[in-house]
Amino acid sequence: NRQIHLVSRPQGEATASNFKLVEAAVPELKDGQVLVRNHFLSLDPYMRGRMNESKSYAAAQPLDAVMIGGTAGEVVASKNPHFAVGDKVVGMAGWQEYQLVDADQRGVLQKVDTTHVPLSAYLGPVGMPGVTGWYGLTQIIAPKAGETVVVSAASGAVGSVVGQLAKARGCRAVGLAGGADKCAYVVDELGFDACIDYKEHKDLKSLSGALKAACPDGIDGYFENVGGMILDAVMLRSNAFSRMAFCGMISGYNGEPIPMLNPSLILVNRMKLEGFIVSEHMELWPQALKELGTAVATGKLKYRETIAQGIASAPEAFLGLLKGKNFGKQLVKLV
Ligand code: NDP
Repeated sequence: NRQIHLVSRPQGEATASNFKLVEAAVPELKDGQVLVRNHFLSLDPYMRGRMNESKSYAAAQPLDAVMIGGTAGEVVASKNPHFAVGDKVVGMAGWQEYQLVDADQRGVLQKVDTTHVPLSAYLGPVGMPGVTGWYGLTQIIAPKAGETVVVSAASGAVGSVVGQLAKARGCRAVGLAGGADKCAYVVDELGFDACIDYKEHKDLKSLSGALKAACPDGIDGYFENVGGMILDAVMLRSNAFSRMAFCGMISGYNGEPIPMLNPSLILVNRMKLEGFIVSEHMELWPQALKELGTAVATGKLKYRETIAQGIASAPEAFLGLLKGKNFGKQLVKLV
């Protein structure tokens, strides 16, 4: 059972030397236990925060232990009546090939139906990132048909869902993404009305000008994944009574400060800004997953994956995710 452990904490940018590949024995099953062979690891930006010691909304990842993370796989041995060999499951096994689940922990494994939804999608649009997009859009931005919704990191696991759900609700959806390829995908494949390549805009004036052109009626809802100049530019184009869902601020995950240039606009425009953590709203997951699962199964919700091969590739793939090298949901395929 090969595993990736966190062995040191980053100073500034995370590096491959913060991680170590460790060989462990595949455990023998006791009564009540289930053994899962993980097929996919989910790599997510929140893991960068867990690498730090400092207190955040969640506890730090301990050193010399398996790196935290969502997983999808198959039951390969079971001494538990609730699980049979061959069951497809999602869990939180972390960065390792096998997961042993005790009888009293069986709640951590969710059986999933892969008839119409591929297993990997349960880590993306029909999993945590999908619910994140759904929550921020429907519960915080709550857009009306005809309004304009903007989302940053638009080609990513969360952003791609936000824009498509906004379109389905009759909104104008505008994305921001890094590079012409990502922007073309956001418009041509995902069906957004426009996408701005923020890397083409070196200053606030230029970026806010691009937003003005893409959002002729101003911005009513903003789904924030990034922070920095993008946030400032959106603020300048935001309408009275607009809403911002603060989901992530990836441009500051290495400890860079994220100042906000014009907080007075919150007052002038009577804006609502609200942060959220998706795992604190478990009561809404069934409703969200129902909409997301149906939309993926019927081909209405599109998504894209970047898949690294083998457990040893996880650290580099994760570091790449933080730099935008991923295109869509970043996964590691183990089987
Ligand atoms: P993505 O698939 O969107 O991947 C991250 C993307 O962020 C990169 O591809 C890159 O896209 C963009 N990015 C990285 N650095 C920068 C930067 N300095 N400036 C601008 N863009 C940057 O990841 P997810 O969809 O999984 O996550 C998106 C956001 O949602 C993250 O901020 C994450 O922390 C947050 N999140 C929050 C949750 C919550 O409960 N609040 C739950 C899940 C996710 P590009 O090439 O376009 O720049």
